[in-house]
Amino acid sequence: MFIDTAKIYIKAGNGGNGAVSFHREKYVAAGGPDGGDGGKGGNIIFVPDRNLNTLMDFRYKRKFIAQNGENGRGKRCNGKSAEDLVIKVPFGTVITESESGRVLADISDDQPVVLLKGGRGGFGNSHFATPTRQIPRFAKSGTPGEEMEVNLELKLIADVGLLGFPNVGKSTLISSVSAAKPKISNYHFTTLSPVLGVVGANSQDSFVMADIPGLIEGAAQGVGLGHDFLRHVERCRLLVHVVDVSGCEGRDPIEDFKLINKELFEYDPEMKNVPQIVAANKSDIATEEQFERFAEFIKGEGYPIFEISAVARKGLDELLYAIRAKLKELPPVKRYETEAAPIEETLQRSSRDFTVTIEDGVYVVEAKWLIPIMNSVNMDDYESLQYFQRVLRTSGIIDKLLEMGIQEDDTVSIYDFEFDFVN
Ligand code: GDP
Ligand code: MG
Repeated sequence: MFIDTAKIYIKAGNGGNGAVSFHREKYVAAGGPDGGDGGKGGNIIFVPDRNLNTLMDFRYKRKFIAQNGENGRGKRCNGKSAEDLVIKVPFGTVITESESGRVLADISDDQPVVLLKGGRGGFGNSHFATPTRQIPRFAKSGTPGEEMEVNLELKLIADVGLLGFPNVGKSTLISSVSAAKPKISNYHFTTLSPVLGVVGANSQDSFVMADIPGLIEGAAQGVGLGHDFLRHVERCRLLVHVVDVSGCEGRDPIEDFKLINKELFEYDPEMKNVPQIVAANKSDIATEEQFERFAEFIKGEGYPIFEISAVARKGLDELLYAIRAKLKELPPVKRYETEAAPIEETLQRSSRDFTVTIEDGVYVVEAKWLIPIMNSVNMDDYESLQYFQRVLRTSGIIDKLLEMGIQEDDTVSIYDFEFDFVN
């Protein structure tokens, strides 16, 4: 079965905790703090894999959890950082956040994408020794790794998509013009997953052709094999509409042509803007009359038409020439832009709970929702810092600190960020 959508849960690893430990040695009374730092949690990384062409692997495995960083230990031993969890997906996989629907990544070039960052390791107590605080009895917890539910959707990356009813000869055509070897047979729906072929692999103007499984009536309403397949024509720059002009299966090529376009435009009216070239196939067994009748109709509709035989390899050069010429005029394959999460919205969505504790005179603030904000704020940048302070103020953290008796220049510690309090 052809699987081209999936919903999975992903979670990056938590950062390891810092250690509280003191140097111990025979005959040495009280050693200094020597607690090591926690290790970084593993990231969640998506990479494209040319060998995959479905999302089948995600049918049974739906949870992907990266390892946590190790905790720090005594003797300044830092915990080991966890390895990243790499998830392989087919080229053209678009990843969206399930909750909001916003696009997180379009895996459509060779670049791996770090989708979720692992948590940072907490500092061990050896970091917190100062002249006035010689025995720090605290260390930092690691920050949690990000987690999320995401939808994966495969939208093929191809310059040219073959469109047409089952059995009109699409698979035969792609195997005649490229090295792709799809199944060809006299049954409907032999092509159950899209097949990509590179046409003119060694030439400069090579292009990628996709054999998209047959559309059927009612496809645009989601009946039968509908949307799964329509999704794959979305990105094509050009469509080659293949028709059996001989009508050898008792079908009327004009009706077939109209029907497919109706389905396509109902699915997405934007598809009207994607140019189509018509390939009148099986001309070897069609009569001159049959072809003329069809050609007249197509020309009336304003589409270029080519008489071919995919099996007899007739008329293919002319067709390919026209495809290349058209592709030169067209914009590149559509990529989906990553949409950033609006920070204010993230704030609104999460409850803004927090805790403040005093440890050795340090005001320790913990608030899970602050972590993504801290990750996005550059603490060395004045404006960024101002923004961060505004968040602390509007969320009531500053008021709470004052209520607990914080004084000017006292230390505030929020995860791995420490600063002196100034009101
Ligand atoms: P698809 O379902 O559109 O991919 O169609 P296929 O490529 O699998 O072809 C369906 C049947 O039509 C097969 O038996 C092919 O051999 C046959 N066929 C394909 N192209 C031609 C052609 O140009 N002429 C003739 N006579 N038969 C063809
Ligand atoms: Mg086929």
